[in-house]
Amino acid sequence: MPKLPMLLLKRLRKNYQLSIITLMGLFGVMAVTPYAVYRLVQGNYLVSFADTTMVVSTILAVLHAWRSGDTVKPGLWLAVIFSAGATVIAINLGVNGLFWIYPLILFNFFMVSPGKAMITMLLVLGTLLGYALFVPGTVFESSYQMISFLVTGLIASLFTYIFAYRTNTQRDQLQAMAILDPLTGARNRRAMNDELRIAVSTHRRHGSSYGVLVMDLDHFKQINDKFGHPAGDQVLTDFVELIQQCSRQENRLFRFGGEEFLLLVPNTDKAGLQAAAAHLQNQVREHLRGPGGPVTMSVGGAILRSGEPWESWLQRADQHLYEAKSAGRDCSIIEADPTPVSALAAAPSSP
Ligand code: GH3
Ligand code: MG
Ligand code: MG
Repeated sequence: MPKLPMLLLKRLRKNYQLSIITLMGLFGVMAVTPYAVYRLVQGNYLVSFADTTMVVSTILAVLHAWRSGDTVKPGLWLAVIFSAGATVIAINLGVNGLFWIYPLILFNFFMVSPGKAMITMLLVLGTLLGYALFVPGTVFESSYQMISFLVTGLIASLFTYIFAYRTNTQRDQLQAMAILDPLTGARNRRAMNDELRIAVSTHRRHGSSYGVLVMDLDHFKQINDKFGHPAGDQVLTDFVELIQQCSRQENRLFRFGGEEFLLLVPNTDKAGLQAAAAHLQNQVREHLRGPGGPVTMSVGGAILRSGEPWESWLQRADQHLYEAKSAGRDCSIIEADPTPVSALAAAPSSP
């Protein structure tokens, strides 16, 4: 397969909202273009103009979504344009135009959030009702027809809202399950790998500084052995709650092993990372209690070096954790000032 179509297909597969906007855009253009021509030939210029506006707007919105990667604004734009167009057409054509309100309901719920789509549909139905009451004899052929249409339109909107809302909630839950550790609620290892990778590329592009603290509870196995696994689980949960409470909001906490955690600290230097480690260590010493008494932790820390992959950054912090353990536990060892990897490579190796 040629390279460009392959790339486009890959992007569509990866980005659900982009593929929906493209698909709906294609349907919109294919469904509305013949009508735009037909109404023009018929001499119904207002409806032809509304149809043409929808077609052109759709093409522009889809192009914008592909170019910028932003699918929110084009989705909103398409929902507004198609709702306004369908309303003008329904007012102008009466029953023949009203049929289009039903696919419009589905279209809007695909394009924007359930709340916005519901508001848009209420505005469309309200405008049609207002116009029919204001200019009697237009839009609907009888009061009975008007009531039937409004009730069925509202029911269809409401059911679609419930369906879309449930789908969104389930998607959010799935996303949360994919990145959170179920026991403690801290981010999991998969999320940690992603965020460390992002930190390295942000450092490379913007020079932002980052530090990591690897924290390991001391003699944790004894808690399990003496008081059972559930008691150990409770300590882990309390530990995460404590660290999240007393560390800055921009910091990210991950559980990356059984009782090993990593804190990603943005915008910090060695002194800042040392202060953060000392503060957290004090908090744990003072407030973390297992069934057998106070629980402490050991900490290893490292500042990201220029040109360094995230794996070696993590490895250095881990190495310092082992040094802290060997130094007697309940202490932290934060690395020496960062040295560029290139400088390390150039330095003569010791015999
Ligand atoms: P050190 O001070 O050297 O870190 O000693 P330690 O006993 O904490 O270290 P070690 O790594 O030997 O023990 C970690 C224990 O953590 C072993 C394992 O049973 C326990 N563990 C791992 N995951 C969980 C978990 O999800 N729940 C509970 N309760 N225990 C866990
Ligand atoms: Mg331990
Ligand atoms: Mg451990």
